[in-house]
Amino acid sequence: MSNIMEVKFSAKSENESLARVIVASFAAKLDPTIDELADIKTAVSEAVTNAIIHGYDEDESKFVYLRCEINENEDEVKIVVEDRGNGIEDVQMAMQPLYTSKPELERSGMGFTVMESFMDGVTVSSIKNDGTKIVMTK
Ligand code: ATP
Ligand code: MG
Repeated sequence: MSNIMEVKFSAKSENESLARVIVASFAAKLDPTIDELADIKTAVSEAVTNAIIHGYDEDESKFVYLRCEINENEDEVKIVVEDRGNGIEDVQMAMQPLYTSKPELERSGMGFTVMESFMDGVTVSSIKNDGTKIVMTK
């Protein structure tokens, strides 16, 4: 049977670890290996950090939306991280390795690259000044 979980939390950096733990315990049902679970947690961290830092410029009054879904066959988890913040003007450029719009914060521009290498599928949809939605599967 499929299984769905949805949560929203304040855009605070301390909630990054919460998001990691929530997703990990939800995905545990799929009997992932330690490595797979570590990959999922890292990807979730990157997406949530991006929502907080880039989507909301660290405005803690805003919310990050997290949704997880285990498919019917119980062999894949889908994770959606969404913000209703700044959006991305050029998604293709943003996803290039080493591209960052905040070099002054010592970001390395590797978040999307990490998500893509650790997950099986990553889809980014974004509208400038409307928000960003990251859909990841593994
Ligand atoms: P790092 O993740 O290595 O610390 P980074 O966050 O800049 O650095 P990526 O995670 O790859 O690198 O993101 C690349 C760029 O995409 C960001 O610098 C930002 O401009 C844009 N971006 C990513 N996520 C969002 C988002 N949720 N809202 C708005 N812009 C975003
Ligand atoms: Mg990032």
